[in-house]
Amino acid sequence: MYANRLAEALPRVRERVRQAAARVGRNEGGVRLVAVTKAHPLEAVYAALETGLRDLGENRVGELEEKVAALAGDHRPRWHMVGHLQSRKAPRVRELATMLHSLDSLKLGRRFERTTPEGAPPLPALVQVNTSGEDAKYGFSPDRFCDELPDLLDLRSLSVEGLMTMAPLTRDEERIRGTFRRLRELHEEARRRHPAYRGTELSMGMSNDFEIAVEEGSTLVRLGTVLFGERPE
Ligand SMILES: *Cc1c(COP(=O)(O)O)cnc(C)c1O
Repeated sequence: MYANRLAEALPRVRERVRQAAARVGRNEGGVRLVAVTKAHPLEAVYAALETGLRDLGENRVGELEEKVAALAGDHRPRWHMVGHLQSRKAPRVRELATMLHSLDSLKLGRRFERTTPEGAPPLPALVQVNTSGEDAKYGFSPDRFCDELPDLLDLRSLSVEGLMTMAPLTRDEERIRGTFRRLRELHEEARRRHPAYRGTELSMGMSNDFEIAVEEGSTLVRLGTVLFGERPE
């Protein structure tokens, strides 16, 4: 079931990414798809891997652990942790994930710092910034982000490779666009102000808004529903 669905959905999604990129003179090669398999069974993971998708996303550590444990042999997806993390889960994420998209507090960063063994390679991480301004969302405040960034850059256990945001759930396209644009502006400001910040990634865009995100400079789109269908309960 998942294999068939994905075989239909993926070319369409790729074409939509290509067209969005072309509208702003970007190359589609600059946009990576992260296939978010959360809440879907292992079958979705295998379907993704068989179509050549290597970047997979989960938003809960427990589910990530289960999927990693169940994956047979040779499969080596790059797992992206995209959801809010309780600090105490930091060591597990360091072991299981290729990239953390949701570095949303200095407290979490410090927990990685305390629990990462001496000499271990840093975990690539994206700083989540709450550019939608919604209270319910995690992340650094856009107003303070640039002042707080140096503390994150000082951590040896994480390497900050870019920024991440989530748009509000709304039909208001200009609000969505503004949320993504603000992230890109903060990224550019950070690059000007802090030479130690060498981020190149902007993780933004989900099933409902990824074309707008690509137009605004996204390099990582996190897609679940549009690839795998509605999540089962
Ligand atoms: C679930 C989730 C996604 C994927 O959402 P869809 O709307 O199904 O594409 C992307 N990012 C994060 C952080 C998520 O939790």
